[in-house]
Amino acid sequence: MRLFFPATLFLIAFPMWMSNASAEDETSVVVDQRFTQAANRTFKAFNSPLEQSWQGPFFFLQLADTQYGMFTGNKGFEKEAALTQQAVEHINRLQPRFVIVCGDLTNATPDQTRYQAQVKQYHQDFSKVDTEIPLVCVCGNHDVGNRPTSKSIASYQKNFGDDYFSFWAGGVCNIVLNSSVLKDPTGAPEVLAAQQTWLEQKLLEAQQSKAKHIFLFQHHPMFLQKEDEPDQYFNIPLERRAPLLDQLKQAEVRAIFAGHYHRNAYGRAGEMEMITTGPVGRPLGKDPSGFRIVIVQETSIQHQYYGMDDVPKKINLTDQVKP
Ligand SMILES: [Zn+2]
Repeated sequence: MRLFFPATLFLIAFPMWMSNASAEDETSVVVDQRFTQAANRTFKAFNSPLEQSWQGPFFFLQLADTQYGMFTGNKGFEKEAALTQQAVEHINRLQPRFVIVCGDLTNATPDQTRYQAQVKQYHQDFSKVDTEIPLVCVCGNHDVGNRPTSKSIASYQKNFGDDYFSFWAGGVCNIVLNSSVLKDPTGAPEVLAAQQTWLEQKLLEAQQSKAKHIFLFQHHPMFLQKEDEPDQYFNIPLERRAPLLDQLKQAEVRAIFAGHYHRNAYGRAGEMEMITTGPVGRPLGKDPSGFRIVIVQETSIQHQYYGMDDVPKKINLTDQVKP
C-alpha cells in the first residue's frame, strides 16, 4: 500500500551527483535527496494519482519546533539533537504513513551565522528516518524570518524545498502554507498574493476530487482557542485570519495543524479543528517535548499529543475505529 520513493531514480541520480563530489560530500548528497521533495508546489513521494483515493485508515505524526539552537541561544544544539533522535526512534518503530514537521526547524534565521550548522544537524538527524517514510517540512518564522522576503524564502527552499505546496495521501488532500507571509506580508506581498491564488485553486480541486478530508498545515496557529480572539504574537492577525477562516470553512477543511506556540492549544471554527502542537525542542509551558499522533479514518480523525517518554509502543488502527 505504501508507495516507495523510486529506487531507480536514486540510482540514476546518484552517480551524476557524485561525479564532482568529494568523499566528505557524500552525506549531504544523500540528505539532499530527502529534503528537496517539496518542489513544483507538490511533494514527490506522493505524486501518484493512486494517492487521491481512499485506501483505508492510516496515521501520521505531526511534529513542530525542533528549533535547533533554542535551548542555548544558538551556542549549541545538543539537547535539540537528542530530542530529535528520540523522536526518530519513535518514528521508525511506529512506521507512520508520513511525518510532518510544522516549522521552526532551526532557531537561527538564514541570515545568521549559526544557521548552516543547525541545518546540517537537522538534516543529519532526520536522514535517519526510514527512507520509505516521507518527511515533510514546513517553514516557520525562524526558517524564513519574522518578515519574510524573497531572499529568505529562497534560502529556505535551497535547504528544505518549497515554502508552500500540497500533496494527496490515501484520499486526503494536505495543503501546506507559508504562514509567515500571512503573519507579516510586508516584505513579500507578492508571495502572499501568489499563495492565496494557488490556495483557492487547491481547495477547489480538493472538493472536485472528493477528498475524504482536507488538512491544512502551517507554522503559526490561525488562533489558539477562539477564532475571533484578539491579535497577539502567536496567532494570525484578524485582518487576514477572518476571511481565510471563512474560505477554509466553506471548503470544508477538516483540521488545521500548527506549532509555534511551544505548547498545545485547541479550538474550533465551526466544524473545523485548530490544533496547535507542542515542540520537539524547548517547551514554553507545562507540556513536555513530544509530538502528535493523528489517526485518519474515512469520516473522522483522532489525535493525541505524547511527551517523548510516553509515546505508545505501536498504533493499532483497528482498535481506534469508532463504533
Ligand atoms: Zn515560531
